[in-house]
Amino acid sequence: MPRAIPRLFSRAPLCCELRMIRRQTRDNSKGNGNRWFYSCGECGHMVFDDWEGIRDGNPLCECKEISRGQKERGRDYVFRCARGECEYRSEDEEDEEDEEDKEDD
Ligand SMILES: [Zn+2]
Ligand SMILES: [Zn+2]
Repeated sequence: MPRAIPRLFSRAPLCCELRMIRRQTRDNSKGNGNRWFYSCGECGHMVFDDWEGIRDGNPLCECKEISRGQKERGRDYVFRCARGECEYRSEDEEDEEDEEDKEDD
């Protein structure tokens, strides 16, 4: 029996004063296959409608909510606003592997 994926949003969020459209990813090249997300028909902004990467212990974003941690291409683990409502962004630099260009700042 397939596991029901809990939804993050109880109703479609607004973006550009329009309701965002719920869709499902097809491309699995980044390990994001068959995930539900909302996208804005105006600006193309998107936000996942699931709880992937949202865990107790993640830092709080500017909405004072638990952020979503995700691997981003070419980067480390990045935490962002789970609902995409604020610009919060934080990189987890714990397990940096390539430190070639490391600068002290
Ligand atoms: Zn928009
Ligand atoms: Zn937020």
